[in-house]
Amino acid sequence: MVEITKLVEYRNIKNNGVGFLAITDKKLPVNCVHHTSCYEVKEMHFKQKVIISGSKNGSYYFTSDYQDAINKFKKMKTCQKCFGE
Ligand SMILES: [Zn+2]
Repeated sequence: MVEITKLVEYRNIKNNGVGFLAITDKKLPVNCVHHTSCYEVKEMHFKQKVIISGSKNGSYYFTSDYQDAINKFKKMKTCQKCFGE
């Protein structure tokens, strides 16, 4: 699992469309791991959280195995929109 800190990295991952994105947020009770293609994962959110806010409230991680994210982060769940119910 690797933390994504640059917009170019985020764009490459979204363009490739493989793997998963885990998004952490200190303020939310539940965090989600998404397919990179999930329509809920938007560049404007990445920019706000990582670039503008400097990741102080949360971060983006790329992983090829979503279970890694669930095991690593306590509040992490699979996104119901892109994983289904
Ligand atoms: Zn999703």
